[in-house]
Amino acid sequence: MKSWLLLPLFISISPQIRNVPEPVVQRPKNIILLIGDGMGLSQVSAGLYANGKKLNIDQFPVTGIMTTHAYRNLVTDSAAGATAFACGCKTKNGVIGLDSKMEKCFSILEDAEAHGLSTGLVASCSITHATPAAFIAHVESRTEHEAIAADILKTDVDLLIGGGLKYFKDRSNDSRNLLNELQDKGYTVSDYEGQPFPALTFSAAKPLVWFGAYEEPLSVTKGRDWLPQAAIKAPVFLKQRSDKGFFLMLEGSQIDWAGHANDANRVVKEMLDFDAVVGKILDFAKEDGQTLVIITADHETGGLALEQGHAHDSLDLTFSSTYHTASLVPVYAYGPGSESFSGVMDNTEIYWKMKALLGF
Ligand code: MG
Ligand code: ZN
Repeated sequence: MKSWLLLPLFISISPQIRNVPEPVVQRPKNIILLIGDGMGLSQVSAGLYANGKKLNIDQFPVTGIMTTHAYRNLVTDSAAGATAFACGCKTKNGVIGLDSKMEKCFSILEDAEAHGLSTGLVASCSITHATPAAFIAHVESRTEHEAIAADILKTDVDLLIGGGLKYFKDRSNDSRNLLNELQDKGYTVSDYEGQPFPALTFSAAKPLVWFGAYEEPLSVTKGRDWLPQAAIKAPVFLKQRSDKGFFLMLEGSQIDWAGHANDANRVVKEMLDFDAVVGKILDFAKEDGQTLVIITADHETGGLALEQGHAHDSLDLTFSSTYHTASLVPVYAYGPGSESFSGVMDNTEIYWKMKALLGF
């Protein structure tokens, strides 16, 4: 991993050239990593044209492109893809937070926690699903939802928003009630039945878990509306939880599922929901001034193509696959340190760049 060499963070200025200004390296205090699962350039393009040629993502000043392949597989899944972001290593498909030799890796979220930053995971899937899981759990198979939930209890993560209540409350592999254990650890625990998200009051005095569904949250087309709301509240909450900064990963999880279903309308709706999230996060980052925001995808899903529709201004979306593809995906960055994310990079470099910029 030599990506950190690209960053002029460790340049020492020799005495002879003391009067040469040192390179200005802006370091972020906070990092928000936004992952659009399955969001290739075609998905972004579909959202753009379906929305009058305008997206919040367009405001990001730095853009790059990224390879996404897994260890020994050209086409990655979300587990290996998220482990690359979380830990900076290639691993086998299906693996959560372990390297290719099945050794535990120390994730950027765990590192942030160890350095006193507050941490959070927000997703529109269950919080034990592959993408969020790779930042906080270490298991050989992404299907081990209960083991992933148990790993979450080993951390002091400050904020969790997503589905998957079942894996905490109604476990089949042991008799633990992780909801009670979370409460014993001091968490405020709420769910979609007790408190719908917009009504939820966020007191930063206690860490918080909000479950948006018993298993997987609804798609946007079926009425899920809370992800942009979570994007407003999560950064403010995390900022209050530590004066050392925060790390937040927020995922638009279901762009991928719409791609697997080859449902073009749903792809566009999930893409625009994620772009609404981007808008809220950008509002926070502009106001805050110390937050680096990175947007990327773990892979493309569906082999989506944009073709000319029947009317001259209409779009026909067609799919060539019901699985992921190995197409390069976009990277966007805003804020201190964003310059590091231009050009062509590998998904593992996202980790190394974040780590260097946070000074870990
Ligand atoms: Mg995902
Ligand atoms: Zn997928």
